[in-house]
Amino acid sequence: MSVIEYDVIIIGAGVAGLTAGAYLAGRGFRVALVTKGEPTACLSTGGIDVCSYNDNPLLGIKELPSDHPFHLVDEKIIRESLDNFQTAMNEMDMPYKGSAEKNRFILSALGTFKTSCLVPSTMEAAAQDAKESIHIITFKGLKDFYPGYIISRRKNAKFSIYDAGVSSTMGIASHFEEREFLEKFLLWLEKQNIYQDKIAFPAVLGLESATKITDTIAILTGKPVFEIPTLPPSMPGRRLFNALKKYFRKKGGEIYWGWPVIGVEKSEKIIEAVITSSKGRPNSLNGKAFILATGSFVGGGLTATREAIIENVFNLPVHVPGPRETWFDNDYFSLNHGIGRAGIIADSSLRPAGTPMENVFVCGGILANTEILKNGCGHGLALATAHLAAKSCMEYIR
Ligand SMILES: Cc1cc2nc3c(=O)[nH]c(=O)nc-3n(C[C@H](O)[C@H](O)[C@H](O)COP(=O)(O)OP(=O)(O)OC[C@H]3O[C@@H](n4cnc5c(N)ncnc54)[C@H](O)[C@@H]3O)c2cc1C
Repeated sequence: MSVIEYDVIIIGAGVAGLTAGAYLAGRGFRVALVTKGEPTACLSTGGIDVCSYNDNPLLGIKELPSDHPFHLVDEKIIRESLDNFQTAMNEMDMPYKGSAEKNRFILSALGTFKTSCLVPSTMEAAAQDAKESIHIITFKGLKDFYPGYIISRRKNAKFSIYDAGVSSTMGIASHFEEREFLEKFLLWLEKQNIYQDKIAFPAVLGLESATKITDTIAILTGKPVFEIPTLPPSMPGRRLFNALKKYFRKKGGEIYWGWPVIGVEKSEKIIEAVITSSKGRPNSLNGKAFILATGSFVGGGLTATREAIIENVFNLPVHVPGPRETWFDNDYFSLNHGIGRAGIIADSSLRPAGTPMENVFVCGGILANTEILKNGCGHGLALATAHLAAKSCMEYIR
């Protein structure tokens, strides 16, 4: 078994893990991040939801139930985490627009509005009410995007179809990165005589150059242009993940990709190492401190069995929201599923409660009582708690 030494080991490559990792690596710590795979960010719209309870997300946080983990994070740290995120994304040529004090809408692929706080610049011009007239450009055979749904909800919308020669989200996005394809598309677009106020596209305008491509189309047409997130897999979510990953590496962090944690070495109060499986042999990654950012059920941090809910890496005590029958609701969209409260309860340093472990910190979707869907607080909570966990970890090591 190979043994590798670091200051901090992060487990999980989601918004939380990559953010905590970049924070620490940027301050000179030797940081390794181990992950078994992609995060839930790749399924998301790419928008940073902070709290949908109120027009002003920071006021919304104050209205959340008292056991919500957002209350563990000082408002100063929440603001700092969102500012740092916007700075990082600017550095990665993927600017995010918006402010912590104002929610805005993202137009969904179904023609409904979703509340978010910070949005990729490619969604900045998104229609904010049903009165704005939009022309949607869609692509022949594209699944995961149905302009018909949008038109049925919005009288002021029309759509045209372009044949990109491929029909997958990823395939069209890769084509947009090619100059020849873009030029041919722009020639076609010029001939469409679009009279609506704004032009909308499914989110396929490039893999990494989406900002540039959106701006080019806006200049050519003289109209505001925006992307509409498709059903998963979502390009804006994937761009977000890729940008955070690059930023973490730029700060000096190292990623062990496809290395699920399968065991730990520990003494009474200290985790000494995580054992990971890779290329058929185990590796031991030793660290002074560990940040658990493995997400909730979708991310793989928690597993529900008939008897219990289990935390899969350190076997930490899990807060279970009442008996099993209270985990569910007959109505899928009710947002009142008790299971949304399951997770790890943490103290004000984000150390897990109910365990003597001194050098473990927890952040992101694995925390208890988040009710992420109901409270509209996904990536925003991940950013804020990642900052707090990284700060606590830094104080502990020093
Ligand atoms: C379908 C969907 C859409 C969403 N849309 C939005 C949105 O538009 N805006 C928004 O703000 N929020 C959205 N959310 C919520 C948001 O994605 C999450 O709340 C947030 O990103 C959680 O991030 P995380 O870093 O805590 O965990 P995750 O993103 O879940 O990442 C967990 C990571 O841990 C790794 N991992 C798990 N177990 C192990 C192990 N044993 N060993 C090693 N690695 C492991 C996983 O591979 C993964 O990389 C959405 C969620 C879902 C499910």
